[in-house]
Order: sequence, then structure tokens, then C-alpha cells
Amino acid sequence: MDSPPAMIPQADPGAGYRAQKAEIDAAVARALDSGWYILGREGEAFEREFAAWLGTARAVGCGNGTDALALILRGLGIGEGATVATVSHTAVATVAAIEMAGAVPLLLDIDPDTYTMDPDELAAVLEDPPPGLPPIRAAIVVHLYGQAADLGPMLGACARSGVALIEDCAQCHGATLGGQKLGTFGQAAAFSLYPTKNLGALGDGGILATDDFELADRIAALRQYGWKERYVSGLVGVNSRLDELQAAILRARLPHLDAGNARRREIAARYDAALAGGPIAPPARREGAEHVFHQYVLRVPDRPAAQARLRDEGVGTGIHYPVPVHLQPAYRGRIPLGPAGCAETERAAREVLSLPMYPELSEAQVERICAALRGLGR
Ligand SMILES: *Cc1c(COP(=O)(O)O)cnc(C)c1O
Repeated sequence: MDSPPAMIPQADPGAGYRAQKAEIDAAVARALDSGWYILGREGEAFEREFAAWLGTARAVGCGNGTDALALILRGLGIGEGATVATVSHTAVATVAAIEMAGAVPLLLDIDPDTYTMDPDELAAVLEDPPPGLPPIRAAIVVHLYGQAADLGPMLGACARSGVALIEDCAQCHGATLGGQKLGTFGQAAAFSLYPTKNLGALGDGGILATDDFELADRIAALRQYGWKERYVSGLVGVNSRLDELQAAILRARLPHLDAGNARRREIAARYDAALAGGPIAPPARREGAEHVFHQYVLRVPDRPAAQARLRDEGVGTGIHYPVPVHLQPAYRGRIPLGPAGCAETERAAREVLSLPMYPELSEAQVERICAALRGLGR
């Protein structure tokens, strides 16, 4: 009897390491041999190289993507006595960061096609803020799954209201809108470097980017006990540093990021073709936006059936995310929502399904996934 084919995992950070093993191992050895493990040459070089790749004046490394968001808010002086608008269809991290900074999150609904903040909702709450909340001082826009949110109208609405626009770029390293890289549109942008992200460390890491030198300097102090200089805390800070080992690994990986994104787009095009003419539509693309497919996400009315069918064909799937933040046990009933509620968010949480997506998927694996997709719903 034939043994069933090995399961293709939905994410495979080990394959990412193996694909660049020689370069990563050399970087690790270099960092270990240096005898300097926190905030040194590797970290400084990675910050410079990342800022140059992105096209911002400055980049500041930190412990993780959640901290990057919280540090941006703290650096902008946004905390207690402020409300920050964002979405509920995101990693819990986005909302956790707002509360870490001491601000109140206000959760808005999404556009059902691109799963990103509904710009009309944002304009509505900026024009007519919900009663009983502190003033809205910032909006954190999440470019979910690797595709730009509808930034044009949101930048306009934020500018008119004097509200900071912060980009959550944890899933969109390298994606563009109108040819311009995401992470260069708002006051500042936060990137997670978690192992499965498009640019991933082999442990925790985060980096934030901005063109505002003063903000970057303030955050560089905030991430290390508020130190202006060694042992002199000019600000009340935290400890959130990117270590030298991760920085060295990230320096080895950054030059491969654009090729990795291109491979993701190639795989996405193959999935699109396999779905063509069937009952399940491929993910919508925003006009003028280049998607980097952190996730390739389908919408399926009967998700358990689709998941089981794909599992039988050896295709692993994931759900990003099964429970919106406002319905999570720690948040339920105490986080304010926009005036229209979160009906699209709740529907997306019931229907989204993520296929395997990483540059190291082999041709044979992609072909097997496509064969399974051709049978889906038919
Ligand atoms: C991964 C992620 C974060 C958090 O990053 P960590 O590095 O895990 O703290 C924040 N926002 C979004 C949208 C994410 O996907």
C-alpha cells in the first residue's frame, strides 16, 4: 500500500534557514566571535542597511514587532489620555501594543475584499469621534497579508485631523503602493522580524522606520531604559533591544528578501491559475499595489470542509485569524468599536483560509497544492 504523501506545512521557517544555511551560519559565527552581543556593530549595520533598502532616513531595531508599535506610540507621546484607531482583523499584537503604550484602542471594520481598514470608517470617527473616548491621536493601519491598505484617503483624513498615521508593516516587507514602499507613507512604520515573516530572524526581532530624526533618537533612548548616554536615563524607557546575533542573521537575509517576495508572487500566480473558473475566487489585488503574499488567503464558506479536503491531499492550511481581537477572552466587551461595528471582520474570521506560502516551496509541492486547488469545491 502507498503511504500517504508527506504533509506540506503551511509555514516552514526551518526550510528558510536551510536555504541560506552557509550565509547564516557564517553570520552567527561572526557575531559570536565578536564578543559583543547587544547593540553593537551588527545592529547598527542592520539598521543602516534596512533603512537604505526601505528608503527612510532612519531605522531603529528593537525586541519584536509589538514593541516596535508601542515604542512608536511612546516616542510620539501617545499613551494615557489618547485613543488609537486600528482594526480588529489583525494579530492581537497590534491592539496589545496600543494598550502597552497606555492608550485606548478603537477597532474599526475592514474592507471585505482586501481585509484592510475601511477608509470611510476612519474618516467617520475622525470627523465625529465616538462619545466617551479620549481624543483620537493616531491610526495604526495594518497592511494585512502583504498588501497595502487604502492609504490615499486615510493619509488625507489623518492629515486633516492632525492625527498620526502609523503603518503596521509586520506582514508587508517590500510591498509597494503606486511604486512606493509601504512603511514610507506615515509618520513611522513598525516591522516584525518574527521567523515566519517575509524578513525573519531566527528568534524574536523588530525594527521601526521613520524620516523623523528626533523621533528615531527618542525611540533609540526609549528602547534602552531611556538612556541618553550610559547610565543616564533622560526618559522613562523600557528594555527592547535587537541582539547582535539576530542582527547578523538579518543582514545575511536582507539581500534575499526581494527575490523571496518575487518567488511568493510566482507561487501566488500559480494558485490563481489553479483556482480560475472554479467557485473559489483568488485573493483580490488592490489596483496600483504590489502584493508580497505574506499569506495567500482564500475565502471559503464551508471552511472546515475545505480544510479537511486539503488535509486529505497533504496540504496544510492556517487561519489568520480565527477570532477577531474584540471577541478574544482578554478583550471581549471592553474594547470600543467604530459606529458601524465589525460585521465584515467577524465574517472574515469565519471564512479565511491561508494556503502554504514561502519561497522555499518546491515545484513539486506547488504542483501538488495546485492539483488540490483544482479539485476544491468542484
Ligand atoms: C507578527 C505581527 C505583529 C507582531 O510582531 P511580533 O514580532 O510577533 O511582536 C504585529 N502586527 C501584525 C499584523 C503581525 O502580523
